[in-house]
Amino acid sequence: MFDKILVANRGEIALRIHRACREMGIRTVAVHSTADVNAMHVRLADESICIGPPPATDSYLNIQAMLTAAIITNADAIHPGYGFLSENADFAAKVEEHGFAFIGPSPDHIRLMGDKITARQTAVEVGIPVVPGSDGVVADLDEAKVAVESIGFPVLIKASAGGGGRGMKVAQSAKELPDALDDAKREALAYFGNADVYIEKFLAHPRHIEVQILADNHGNVVYLGERDCSLQRRHQKVLEEAPSPALNQAERHEIGAIAVAAAKKIGYRNVGTMEFLYENGKFYFIEMNTRLQVEHPVTEMICSLDIVREMIRIAAGAPLGFQQKDIRFSGHAIECRINAENPVTFMPSPGRVGDYHAPGGLGVRVDSALYSGYTVPPHYDSMISKLIVHGTNRNECLMRLRRALDEYVIDGIETTIPLHQRLVTDTDFVNGDYDVNWLEKQVGDE
Ligand code: ADP
Repeated sequence: MFDKILVANRGEIALRIHRACREMGIRTVAVHSTADVNAMHVRLADESICIGPPPATDSYLNIQAMLTAAIITNADAIHPGYGFLSENADFAAKVEEHGFAFIGPSPDHIRLMGDKITARQTAVEVGIPVVPGSDGVVADLDEAKVAVESIGFPVLIKASAGGGGRGMKVAQSAKELPDALDDAKREALAYFGNADVYIEKFLAHPRHIEVQILADNHGNVVYLGERDCSLQRRHQKVLEEAPSPALNQAERHEIGAIAVAAAKKIGYRNVGTMEFLYENGKFYFIEMNTRLQVEHPVTEMICSLDIVREMIRIAAGAPLGFQQKDIRFSGHAIECRINAENPVTFMPSPGRVGDYHAPGGLGVRVDSALYSGYTVPPHYDSMISKLIVHGTNRNECLMRLRRALDEYVIDGIETTIPLHQRLVTDTDFVNGDYDVNWLEKQVGDE
């Protein structure tokens, strides 16, 4: 097992990884920008090292600085968390070239799945159903027209290098196709430095359902159930739950078995999530995330498992300590992503936190690096806390979530707690009756 792990991240996820290390008797190194000198992930780590100025490109995305920090502190392994360098195949390769273990999938798998077109093609090859669409890159309008011929309108034009809900354009009809194609390519180039786009049928009322898998280096692969992440704003997740209120047991096992078989076929290792759209009883693969996800705690709560611990064990070469038949799903869990934003306009609200009181009690977990007197810097993502609640069933979970949201005090900055308070009492949400478009209708966005 490793003696010392460098956590190449910040905020709640750096803290989350530190906690798993501590419980395994592993020492931790925190990295930080000059904006994060006083951050909680720095305070709690065994050692810390400054890797650059506030902009992420100069610090948390700086591969040279990250590797230098690992060399100086004599770490054995690097955990990338999510975001930043976590899905950068070149970083993973360099980590390994420098003799450190990368706590995640192989660089080749990160590369394969990082390009959404090759991910889609791979999914087809290994028998995963995908959203009907183009075979590969759509280079021009003529190719777009050919792709649309077989699937029909409406269609969604997506960036191959896309992420974070960006670079997607809908075309409702042939008339809209040329502009949508141009806009999607322009946006893809501007955001991702790669203008490659492809086309998918635009599904009208899908749910976003994803399957968590774990794979060791000895051929063992398991799935840890699904998460329903249909509550989204601008194609970004706001609240997640497990299990999905929309699936029955047979569907759950069907999609889990498909994900496991596919991971085995491609020789996947460590942690991964296959994302699907689910509509009218059918699953359609959209992408695979080759990293730990923000919403992993809801799975941990219903499986009583520590996913970060498993990632570390797998990276150290240990076999999974359990098989699929040992995994029991128990109760229901919901996670609210709490952002430092105005709950109506969603304008970021960084600044100094005044009074801070996190909820507690049975079944309540708060993953956050906040403390009273902490200043939320303006340079990074606005998510400041994740409130995760577990109950023996969905109703108990909802009642507990309401009381936990009511207890949560974060003074001094605006947060999206009031938005969540509203959502979790809404009749549609209480009935589990929502799709990926539901939240946008609620908040009247765009
Ligand atoms: P990103 O990598 O940017 O997160 P995804 O491909 O994972 O993009 O899709 C994000 C969200 O966009 C999905 O959860 C869904 O809400 C919406 N979406 C993606 N593809 C489609 C589609 N073909 N039809 C309808 N909605 C889609």
